[in-house]
Amino acid sequence: MLRSREAVETLPAYHPPLAGRTGLRLDFNENTEGCSPRVLEGLRSLDREQLAKYPEREPVEAIVADFLKVEPAELLLTNGVDEAIHLLCQTYLEPGDGALIVVPTYSMYRIYVMAAAAELVNVPLGDGFQFSTESVIAAITRRTRFIAIANPNNPTGTVVRPAELLLIARSAPEAAVLVDEAYFEFYGQTMLNQWQRSANIFVARTFSKAYGLAGLRLGVLAGDREQMRAVRRVSSPYNVNAVALACLPEALADQAYVSRYVEEILETRTRLERALGAHRIPFWPSQANFVLARVGPSRADAASFVDGMRRHGILVRDRSSDCGCEGCVRITCGPREHGDRLLAALAKVSGERGAVQGAL
Ligand code: PMP
Repeated sequence: MLRSREAVETLPAYHPPLAGRTGLRLDFNENTEGCSPRVLEGLRSLDREQLAKYPEREPVEAIVADFLKVEPAELLLTNGVDEAIHLLCQTYLEPGDGALIVVPTYSMYRIYVMAAAAELVNVPLGDGFQFSTESVIAAITRRTRFIAIANPNNPTGTVVRPAELLLIARSAPEAAVLVDEAYFEFYGQTMLNQWQRSANIFVARTFSKAYGLAGLRLGVLAGDREQMRAVRRVSSPYNVNAVALACLPEALADQAYVSRYVEEILETRTRLERALGAHRIPFWPSQANFVLARVGPSRADAASFVDGMRRHGILVRDRSSDCGCEGCVRITCGPREHGDRLLAALAKVSGERGAVQGAL
């Protein structure tokens, strides 16, 4: 029997619950409306030759760089942010190096750090999922070579201010510091170009959320040009396929679509937070396109809430297994009409749960 590397044998399998997702998909922080119609036009204009040729990333990278106001040499298009995380781990982590994440957070940091046989250090968020810059800085050692911070964070929706992120980066000059801005469009603050102040800062963006292109797998990694030269050496020259490359300029060109979509999501987020308050379900105010709520003290509470919502046609995500999230569910916000359906189901499930609790 062929053995995999030791780091791989001990790697926990990560199987997001993708099977049988029928209903309104408020479980993966996706766009539930679909992308700009311009993207579909871009898709239809593809010809046989474009599919026959190896994809050329650079012309599209120039367009994205222009949009983000960075230099093309400071940017790499990736197969989603997931690949960006993987590339950073491959570029900077030797076996036994230290890698720091602030938990609960996005699962793939842990997977790629562990696959690189690096030593994972989990710094827990504080009370109320408050980010503690002090705790992060206290956990940095000379061996720390990678730090990943999602801003806004998934699943909490909480954020860290730019000055704090800069302080962390300056406190860890030997580490690649990834600021994962997957939910940037719902928040608005960025660390792009901050690598001019601390050359170890990287920023990741995705087209999976606000742009509605999760299925195409499109992300961006940006950073200091010297650092990006190293990262690019690790990357496949064909990591982003021709279909995704043809669609991306169309997606970027339709900013009216993105702003309207984001506006509706923020409206739904406010409505959801109000409704949770009214149903006396504690939640953490969010800066992303989802809200984390504690529907009860135990895992069973979260599981029964998820089941109840499913019965009313809405998929939401059980986050009970995340650090400090027992009894928590994460609910993605959709545009207005999906917000209406969500709130109607929430009212029914809360009513049913209230009735059960009253009968006990
Ligand atoms: N980063 C964060 C913080 C996320 O929540 C997600 C998606 N759930 C990703 C990255 C993955 O993004 P992509 O689809 O671009 O790989």
